[in-house]
This record gives sequence, structure tokens and C-alpha cells, in this order.
Amino acid sequence: MAGFLVPPGSMCSQLSAIPGLTIAFPNSSSYAATQNDFWTLQEASLHPACIAQPTETQHVADLISAIVSHDTPFAIKGGGHAPSAGWANIENAITIDMGGLSTISVNGDASVASIGAGARWLDVYTFLDPLNRTVAGGRNGAVGVGGLTLGGGVSYFSPQVGFTCDTVVNFQVVLASGEVVNANSTENPDLFRALKGGVNDFGVVTRFDFVTLPVGEISGGSVVNDIEHRHAVFKAFANIADAPDYDIHASIVTSVVFSSISKTWTLSSTSIYTTPDLNPPVYKELFAVPSISKSIHLTTLHDFANETALPQNDILFYTSTYGVSAHLLDELFDICNASVHASQVSGGVTWLLTFEPLPSAIVAHGDDQHFGNSLGTSPKDGNSMILLLTVVWSDTSSSASVEAEAASLLSKMDQAARNRKLDRRFRYANYANPSQKPIHSYGAANREFLNKVANRYDRKGIFQKLVPGGFKLEN
Ligand SMILES: Cc1cc2nc3c(=O)[nH]c(=O)nc-3n(C[C@H](O)[C@H](O)[C@H](O)COP(=O)(O)OP(=O)(O)OC[C@H]3O[C@@H](n4cnc5c(N)ncnc54)[C@H](O)[C@@H]3O)c2cc1C
Repeated sequence: MAGFLVPPGSMCSQLSAIPGLTIAFPNSSSYAATQNDFWTLQEASLHPACIAQPTETQHVADLISAIVSHDTPFAIKGGGHAPSAGWANIENAITIDMGGLSTISVNGDASVASIGAGARWLDVYTFLDPLNRTVAGGRNGAVGVGGLTLGGGVSYFSPQVGFTCDTVVNFQVVLASGEVVNANSTENPDLFRALKGGVNDFGVVTRFDFVTLPVGEISGGSVVNDIEHRHAVFKAFANIADAPDYDIHASIVTSVVFSSISKTWTLSSTSIYTTPDLNPPVYKELFAVPSISKSIHLTTLHDFANETALPQNDILFYTSTYGVSAHLLDELFDICNASVHASQVSGGVTWLLTFEPLPSAIVAHGDDQHFGNSLGTSPKDGNSMILLLTVVWSDTSSSASVEAEAASLLSKMDQAARNRKLDRRFRYANYANPSQKPIHSYGAANREFLNKVANRYDRKGIFQKLVPGGFKLEN
């Protein structure tokens, strides 16, 4: 096979010689288990020559040494929730499924949780809830610790402690050389900072050590409003997101969802308060808007994160970051409403616009030249909001037209924000489309820093060349 020193098939047979390591081949149940675990059809439709399923750090080190010495392309799969084809899977080469490295433990006073990179957030909360501790992790329990943390990570606790990556005190990483190193504030501190936003560009992370924080019951649930009340809901959202003294216990996600089958919009807000307070003042305005249903209740993180999995579908993400404004939210809705009714996709298509606050309170935690993150966000930008545009459809033959419609919609929304001088530079990698440039959005100084660190720890550019999936440093 052109380009490979050893064809991937025979490379897979060689990898089977690594002691204790499972190599899953097509038509086996362990191969199917990994393929069925991807969130989207685009990812599950790729066919790796084999899937390596390590259960120990040493397996990953041996794998990387062997794969790299034979110049074979590979993909790294955490929880498999990045939607784009090739982000964590690969055609006719090797996928490393990190799912078997999912051990969770805490230190003596439970102030630090050590979490295998293949764990899911539900595993984490199920382990930590009984200890009345938590980490600032993902909101949906099925999402992987690996991808979410390396791309940043927005958590219910982010207003208290920053992005998920800001709460990592140590990464255990397998470098391109196969060497296992730690990256923390004293050992390899440049790699430590680079990994906080540097996605899969520096190595395979095998373990994350996170600071924990105390938690008990939290209050949370959804408020569903008639779409006619959207202005009042957007105004309440904007007042929460743009409060000069953001309430650090509040975490709100507001979505408008259009189904091309029913031709109707749904408006809902997931409103969390990280203490057991069912009626905190921060939600007074939102809760006063006439609602169709309201399910705010006391719950635990693991119960709330335990969402029902959806069948695999074609799904795409796009993202932008804007300054907070209820009038901009109104306009973004109008832009979508003007275009989505025309969508003609057999089996239907669902358009979701999701907004979440990105207040200065969050970004201040990672804003440190030495130990901060590499995301390039700053409190100087002021309070912002992140848009996640998600499109879901089941007719793969319509993919090109859906993708073109989504791109055009995003560009109209970005233009509306620019017209109001509310566009922000940051593009969140975990919500970005492959056509976007999140690492570019971190700013020139951060990109220069990331390239310098990559040159130091991965001289041959293995994670740029042999790992084609994900956002590469030139992005
Ligand atoms: C239903 C759903 C809910 C979500 N909720 C949130 C949320 O609450 N907060 C939030 O911030 N984001 C959220 N996201 C976005 C999520 O952070 C991204 O989709 C993220 O990429 C998922 O990580 P993963 O490990 O599951 O995915 P994967 O597809 O397995 O991995 C994503 C990327 O990370 C790389 N990677 C994974 N593990 C490693 C590793 N150990 N070493 C090196 N590289 C690795 C992969 O190669 C891939 O490029 C959500 C997504 C979905 C689909």
C-alpha cells in the first residue's frame, strides 16, 4: 500500500505481539463494540484496519513506538463524541480506543482525582458523588474525559473554577517517542500549558489528575417555553450571562430547536444551580416567563448526567462566540427561521441553536501566561456567549446540501454579530466544524507557543502527520 512502510493489515498483526494488548479485527464483537460507541454515523462509517484496545499506559507506549516506527497513520478515540469523520476514527489504518484506561481513584483527602483518559463523565460522577466531591467535567455523562478536557471543557462548575482543563494538575502523556512523561506546573510546564486546549497535537494522554471540589445535591432541570416567548427568555438569558458579578453557581444552556418534519420550534433552557437551591434569585426573571413545563428539582450530578443515548445519526457542529445581547439572540433566531423552513431532507433534519454563557468569571481562571491554558480567551473580552449550531439528519445522500446550508447559516449569523460589533475571536474546538480554525482563534502568540512546544516534544511532527484527525496546529 502506497505511503505505508508496512501495510496497516500486517502492522495490526505485529501489534498483536504486544503483551496483554487486545487488537480487535473487523467482524469481531470487540471491533463492533468500538464502532457502535461513536456518537455519529460519520465516525462509525470509517473502517479501521484494526482497533487497538489498551488497558494499561505501557500498552499505549508500546503501541505508539511500534506505529510510529512504521509510519502508520492512527486515530485516538476517547469517548467518541466528536461528530466529524476522522476525528477519533480512521479508514484502513489503526484506531486506538482508550476506553479500557478508565480507572478512577482519589488521593488521601480526596482533593485530587486521578482519572484514566478513556473514562466517561458518568463513571466519574458515579465514583465521586458518594464522596461529596466532584470535578468540573462534562454535562452529558456519555462524553469522554479525554476529548472534552483537551479541547477546554465547559462544566456546570466552570464559573467557579474555569474550563475543565484549568482544573488539571497533572497530565500523564505518551509522547511520539513512546516515552511516558508527566506534565504539571514543575515537570514539563510548557507541555502542561499546551495540553490545556492543544487537543490531540502533543501526545496520547493516558491519565488526568484533576483538583476536586465539594458538591452535594444540585438544583437543575429544564424550562420549556412557547417560542412566542423567546424575546423574554433571551432577555433573561442575556441578563444572567452579562451580569457584572456573574453568579458562579449558575449555569444555563438555552436552545431553540427546529424540526423539518413538524415545522415547529421548541425553546428550552437547562438551568442548573450548583447548590440545593430551587429558586435562586439569578433565575427569577427566567422562571417568571410563562412556561409550558418546568422540571427544576434537586438532583445529583450522576443522575443528571445520565442521559438517554440517541441512535447514531449524521450530525455536524459549528460554533461561534459573540458578545451577549438579547437583540442579537432575536436576530440570530430570525436568520435561522428565514432559512430552515426550506430544508428538504428525506427523513427530516433537526436544527439546534444552543447558547451558553462564557463570562469573564470562567476565562479569568485560565488567563495566566505560565500556568494558564492555551485557549487565548481573556476577561478583557468581556462577558461572551458561545453558540453551538448542531444539525442532525439521517439521509446521508443529503449530507452535502445540509453541510452547505449550515455553513451559509453560520456565515449569516457571524455577519449579524459583526454588524453589531459583537463578534469575538474565540472558536471553541470541542464545538467546531472541521472547516473552522479554532487553534487559529487562540491568537498568534498562543499558536507560536503551541508550535514551539510541539517542536520540543514531537520533533518529527508525528501528531501533525500520522494523526490526521482533529484540529492540527496549522489550523
Ligand atoms: C452529547 C454531547 C454533550 C456534550 N457536552 C459537553 C459539555 O458539557 N461541555 C463541553 O465542553 N463539551 C461538550 N460536548 C463536546 C465535547 O467536549 C466534544 O465532542 C469532545 O470532543 C468529546 O470528547 P470525546 O473524548 O468523547 O470524543 P472523541 O471523539 O473520542 O475525541 C475527541 C478528540 O479528542 C482526541 N482525544 C480523545 N482522547 C484523547 C487522549 N486521551 N489523548 C489525546 N487525544 C485524545 C481525539 O483524537 C479526538 O480528536 C458534548 C458533546 C456531545 C456530543
